[in-house]
Amino acid sequence: MTISSFMFVGRFRYWKQSFCSVEEKKKVVALLSGGLDSRLAVKMMQNQGFDVTAVAIKTPFCDFDCGRGCGFEIRETADMLNVDLKTVYLGDDYIEMLKNPKHGFGSGMNPCIDCRAMMFKAGKKVMEDIGAEFIISGEVLGQRPMSQHGPALRTIEKEAGLEGKIVRPLSGALLPKTQPEENGIIKRENLGMIRGRSRKEQLKLAQEFGFENPPNAGGGCLLTDPNFAIRAKDLFNHTETPTTNDIDLLKIGRHFRFDSKTKLVVGRNKDENEMLKALALAGDVLLETKDHVGPISLLRGESSNANLKLASDITFRYSDAPKEMQGVSLIQKNEIVSEVPASNIAEQEYLKYRI
Ligand code: SF4
Repeated sequence: MTISSFMFVGRFRYWKQSFCSVEEKKKVVALLSGGLDSRLAVKMMQNQGFDVTAVAIKTPFCDFDCGRGCGFEIRETADMLNVDLKTVYLGDDYIEMLKNPKHGFGSGMNPCIDCRAMMFKAGKKVMEDIGAEFIISGEVLGQRPMSQHGPALRTIEKEAGLEGKIVRPLSGALLPKTQPEENGIIKRENLGMIRGRSRKEQLKLAQEFGFENPPNAGGGCLLTDPNFAIRAKDLFNHTETPTTNDIDLLKIGRHFRFDSKTKLVVGRNKDENEMLKALALAGDVLLETKDHVGPISLLRGESSNANLKLASDITFRYSDAPKEMQGVSLIQKNEIVSEVPASNIAEQEYLKYRI
């Protein structure tokens, strides 16, 4: 690609002036992820004179900036871009889709095509509510193997009921004409020609637009994390309809599968111990080693004597108690505290349960 894909920036400015001088700004909805690509897409549309409303989609598997409060960074991005922000949470519907996604999974447990279709459907609703002309995203042709090749982009549009109405400004000049282009609302020469996984062109464009500290690529979705995917698959294989609480549990601790109904989660630090206490539901059992510093564990499922003893031994194993000694675990179920013996368990005896 010898013609730089961001040479069109200068032309945006010219077009912006002529566009704005003749009519009121047209509305566009943008899917905003907090990453660089969607920021650039928004800016490109603003430079062409559109009034952009951003939609941030959250799922139970998002891992964006949770340390600073859910959605903090997207809110900052929206403020920086000076756009209205609407946040849509896909909870139970998303979990239902994940049981059997029509277009399958990527290399982890990521159902990218079905996921993107759901996100665009949510964006479509906002588009209709505010009377926007079309919807944009920061997708780049060929950037992601599952969902960003030509046929996948078309499938997503079809599944979302948005055929011809999704504009991908960064790669738009490489993609088939969209309705807004047919209607003359946007022009091909104002769309980008970015393709593939390199971020070089995006970084140049970010500089051109004056974006400081452009965010790093990747991250954000736990379903693409191989270790998380193993735990998520185990959950979906053993639970007909997991809840968001089940999914929040997947995000912390060491996980052990005892039987088809029962699993143990062992905290790895103080924060996780507190989170396990907060996530415990009626019927769950919380365990900790008596008289020694150690983790909190949460047993969910069948609290048979055998499972309680195994949970007690594993919790003891991860505590500071000298391994040659016997101990006692405190167990709490439905506010009732009792004790069970704890003994040193051999590594091969408990690691076989590790998920
Ligand atoms: S990476 Fe995750 S959030 Fe992104 S499309 Fe795939 S499943 Fe959805």
